Amino acid sequence: MDISVRRLCKEFDRYPALNGVSLEVGSGELIALLGPSGSGKTTLLRLIAGLEFPTSGSIYFGKEDASQKSVQERNVGFVFQHYALFRHMTVIDNISFGLRVRGRRNRPSDAAIRKRASDLLDLIQLPNVANRFPHQLSGGQRQRVALARALAIEPRVLLLDEPFGALDAKVRKELRRWLRELHERTGHTTIFVTHDQEEAMEMSDRVVVMSQGRIEQVGTPDEIYDRPASPFVFSFIGDSGELAVTIDRGEVFLDGRSLGPLAEGLPDGRARMFLRPHDLEITDDPAGAISGEVATVRRHAATRRIEIAVGEKRQRIEVAVPATRGFVPEGTQTFRPVRCRLFPAN
Ligand code: ADP
Ligand code: MG
Repeated sequence: MDISVRRLCKEFDRYPALNGVSLEVGSGELIALLGPSGSGKTTLLRLIAGLEFPTSGSIYFGKEDASQKSVQERNVGFVFQHYALFRHMTVIDNISFGLRVRGRRNRPSDAAIRKRASDLLDLIQLPNVANRFPHQLSGGQRQRVALARALAIEPRVLLLDEPFGALDAKVRKELRRWLRELHERTGHTTIFVTHDQEEAMEMSDRVVVMSQGRIEQVGTPDEIYDRPASPFVFSFIGDSGELAVTIDRGEVFLDGRSLGPLAEGLPDGRARMFLRPHDLEITDDPAGAISGEVATVRRHAATRRIEIAVGEKRQRIEVAVPATRGFVPEGTQTFRPVRCRLFPAN
């Protein structure tokens, strides 16, 4: 393991921004911290960087307890959403900065620094901007230079806090792919903060889903999407709908009608049934089906999204139906749940 975070807590004026976070990051892994605003992502990143110190718990870099070490001693590289570059310095000076300010004993020669900076400009595919100032670059170019600057010191870990957050959607998308490729070439252990689930799912080896200062789930993008560990993760990732149901000996009931033995191993009583729009199919067979009245129909890429009102409480959920047939459902329809996820209600 490259980085090991153990039962980390951080309070600000008694407010628990992080509440017992434990996490192992493998060497060379690209891991995303994903969660809504205020969930503690930046705090966790700043603690790993050494910009902030924990109230309790510890951070190991390899076998070494780094909890009380400074940023320099930890040798981390970071990039933030804003103010990533020094405005009054050229690109090449920005990139060289971390090496130039090193103590005499650790500082490479001027020639070596120049060589390193120019190699990094090649790596970020901007060989011709060395003598420009930050304001002469596009937002996307600036963040690439910021990344080169973070890499210049050959950091043990790269920490990125919403590095593409201020850029427009198209540039973001390009930079995501670019960063993923760069990561595959350089193999730096990387922790990447985002509140954008698509970004997290697309880029990372594993995703850490955070909420209210805690980790809800750690898993590969597939695990997070297909086997969410909690109602929070299910609702936060992808589109989701929820129905209140009851469980009786493994059988699920909606308004007293059986949907079949979908809940093996779950306790009897009230439960929350989570469904994604693609988890339901229109069917003619009423057995085990959910009956719903079509409320709205919207075109959504290759499918139509219909919102249906279900049961006595008219609970609203969305269903994706193919749009190719030109078929637009209306009135009351029956839907077969192809898969679903159940959690006890408490
Ligand atoms: P995220 O990056 O997920 O949006 P943060 O880690 O920035 O979340 O913040 C987590 C919580 O801690 C928030 O409620 C925030 O207001 C609080 N917080 C963060 N930094 C400070 C600070 N320096 N002083 C007081 N409260 C803070
Ligand atoms: Mg943040």
